[in-house]
Amino acid sequence: MVFEGLSEKLQNVMKKIRSAGRVTEKDVKEMMREVRMALLEADVNYKVVKDFIAKVSERAVGQEVLESLTPGQQVIKIVHEELIQLMGGAVAKLTVSPSPPTVYMMVGLQGAGKTTVCGKLANYLRKQGKRPLLVACDVYRPAAVKQLQVLGKQIDIPVFEMGTGTSPVEIAKKSVDYARSMQFDTVIIDTAGRLHIDEELMHELENIKLSVKPHEILLVVDSMTGQDAVNVAESFNNRLDIDGIILTKLDGDTRGGAALSTKAVTGKPVKFVGIGEKLSDFEPFYPDRMASRILG
Ligand code: GDP
Repeated sequence: MVFEGLSEKLQNVMKKIRSAGRVTEKDVKEMMREVRMALLEADVNYKVVKDFIAKVSERAVGQEVLESLTPGQQVIKIVHEELIQLMGGAVAKLTVSPSPPTVYMMVGLQGAGKTTVCGKLANYLRKQGKRPLLVACDVYRPAAVKQLQVLGKQIDIPVFEMGTGTSPVEIAKKSVDYARSMQFDTVIIDTAGRLHIDEELMHELENIKLSVKPHEILLVVDSMTGQDAVNVAESFNNRLDIDGIILTKLDGDTRGGAALSTKAVTGKPVKFVGIGEKLSDFEPFYPDRMASRILG
């Protein structure tokens, strides 16, 4: 399960800190060295770790900690608060357009779980009372259109498709008109993915963005890919100015680095997480719960 290693290491450090009767500046330094190691081993981006440690250290050597009766507890509280901030602070909600349909454009590399997330998000939003329409814009792989149709059938949510002979821009535009005329209030566009980021893919995604002006562009990244997930997020964000990130496969054997790094590196929050292969294995990302889980 995600964060198991990090959690175990940090909990050991915290145990030591908690029992500290008095804390000197030197002790704080020593504690931070261990926290730093634990974060790096969890594959958290090195620059993110550096900034995090600097912030925590600065607060932890402050008067109120060193002179407190429970300095260990104070340090833990600071680590906890800064972990929450690192992951974005509050829960990041989805934008909903006052004049429907709200359009969500899903982007990401092939295999990240994008198509699955389209189904999961549609299912989730319907439970919130929405009426979503799924849109198949990956025209390069006939199997991708089929996959979305199969998903749609499973959850009984309609899929708008025009096969593989029409341009994705055209399909996306038509789908929004269709949604408006058929009273769908939410449009979820599944775009093409590639194994690697390339110019052609980015160009196409930019064109879809320009022509349908989605209310949100959500990047789907595989948390199992660690540092790569962060690089992917940075590249997509530079080109498309994304609105949020959906991290998949948090149920796997991931070390959690991506969950802790992407917000700091891109400035864009993680909005949802995929926690399994089932369509119901999907939930909003709660930075405070995640921080509590990490610190035990
Ligand atoms: P796409 O190429 O980005 O559209 O990726 P797919 O949606 O086809 O997903 C790729 C694989 O990842 C599939 O086998 C999915 O079942 C699997 N997958 C997607 N999300 C999750 C998740 O949160 N947890 C796990 N364990 N598997 C996932």
